[in-house]
Amino acid sequence: MPIDPTQPYDDANIFARILRGELPSNKVYEDDWAFAFHDIAPQAPVHILVIPRGAYVSWDDFSAQASDPEIAGLARAIGHVAREAGLVETGYRVLYNVGTHGGQEVPHLHAHIFGGRPLGRMIG
Ligand code: IMP
Repeated sequence: MPIDPTQPYDDANIFARILRGELPSNKVYEDDWAFAFHDIAPQAPVHILVIPRGAYVSWDDFSAQASDPEIAGLARAIGHVAREAGLVETGYRVLYNVGTHGGQEVPHLHAHIFGGRPLGRMIG
């Protein structure tokens, strides 16, 4: 069920629990700013989620409230993960779902990286 992107951050959300090591994940990368792991229900041959360590519900509060180093850290981690996954030559997609129309279900900001096949030009 899609979430309200203006809701307060819920420390018990599933990605917060993955970040704290309370739940397992198939980790591919971590640094001071971000953590990346394989999506549990991949929609492409490569489907990786990259999340900031900070407590942000969606792109909305992240873009408004995160510090410049946090924003840069997440952006650099996404690029690093895509390069390490071998996606640069063939290309890939980075996607943030936001709120109801975006279909966001987990209330901790996450970038989807999709790759490994032609992805078409669909937006929804
Ligand atoms: P959203 O619709 O943008 O919020 O995407 C949430 C994504 O999280 C979906 O692609 C889910 O498959 C994925 N997901 C949910 N729970 C887990 C988990 O425990 N590990 C990895 N991915 C998950």
